[in-house]
Amino acid sequence: MKRYSMNELQKNELRALLKHPVQWNCPLRSYTSFGIGGPADALVQVESVGELEKLFLFLVENQLNWRVIGRGTNLLVRDEGFAGIAIVLTGGFKEYECEVGEDAVYLKAGAGCSLTRLSGECAAQGFSGLEFTVGIPGTLGGAIFMNAGAWGGSISDVLLSLDVVNREGRKTYEREQLSFSYRKADTLVEHCVVVGAVLRLCQKKREEVEAVCRGYRERRNQLQPGGYGSAGSIFKNPEGHSAGRLIEASGLKGVMVGDAQVSEKHANFIINRGMASAGDVLDLIAHIQGKVEKDSGIKLDPEVHIL
Ligand SMILES: Cc1cc2nc3c(=O)[nH]c(=O)nc-3n(C[C@H](O)[C@H](O)[C@H](O)COP(=O)(O)OP(=O)(O)OC[C@H]3O[C@@H](n4cnc5c(N)ncnc54)[C@H](O)[C@@H]3O)c2cc1C
Repeated sequence: MKRYSMNELQKNELRALLKHPVQWNCPLRSYTSFGIGGPADALVQVESVGELEKLFLFLVENQLNWRVIGRGTNLLVRDEGFAGIAIVLTGGFKEYECEVGEDAVYLKAGAGCSLTRLSGECAAQGFSGLEFTVGIPGTLGGAIFMNAGAWGGSISDVLLSLDVVNREGRKTYEREQLSFSYRKADTLVEHCVVVGAVLRLCQKKREEVEAVCRGYRERRNQLQPGGYGSAGSIFKNPEGHSAGRLIEASGLKGVMVGDAQVSEKHANFIINRGMASAGDVLDLIAHIQGKVEKDSGIKLDPEVHIL
């Protein structure tokens, strides 16, 4: 892989922009739920929109490759690493507040907030709308970028407005300006950093909301493998089909490449048995795609983002 190189002047400029020290040649495996991946040329932690705007300008002016890492729960980082700057949102991006209106509850949250935390705190107050996110281990920013969803709901269903930073600075989009599809945000969001959003929820009885969350949590525990690194569903469900059922029908449950294995519990999960490399996972993905296409004529499309 071609690696970019920053000269000393650029490195100093980058250091001077940020409150947190830059982590050069930073291994990304501890930033992903797979526990896999080589280093990013640099990893930077950003605390505020102002800091991010300056960073963005620097990246654009110097034509540097960048990518946001939320909680890395839908990411496979290649063994050779990421030739660019990995951006992690922290500080003010982890803050949220709720406003109870006459007919709705408005949750204003930073992109770095954990979905687990948001859904838990909303349930505890009887705010309904985020129950489907229980057990989705990412950040709000990652969930919006992926249009994450489960049990028939997706994050775009509750989105009211979205704040992003791009080369023009900070921008707000109303929900009507954006179109979302299955595990994909609008192309307008593609080259942006999602910095925060307002979600529209509603007030219900706390016990009702908590019961729904409990039900989803139990179903996940029954269906999904625990105890190993993974990135959730590895493939998108093809229209009218379940990727997991297709993989199972091809007899691939339990199949391993190196230390990467098709979960025995849920065929659409690849788990890291401990020492899997990204190469193992990519080879297993290719093997699954080949066998499923041969058996069913259907080409599976990865849901996981590959860096
Ligand atoms: C056990 C398990 C269960 C899961 N279950 C589900 C499920 O039921 N439904 C579902 O949809 N997903 C599921 N996932 C996948 C994953 O949790 C979601 O896709 C989640 O929304 C990703 O969020 P993240 O913060 O981890 O994003 P990351 O994995 O860090 O990033 C995903 C993509 O979004 C981009 N990105 C992240 N944050 C931002 C930002 N602020 N601005 C711009 N781009 C950004 C990244 O560059 C990357 O391309 C599961 C994963 C695991 C491990």
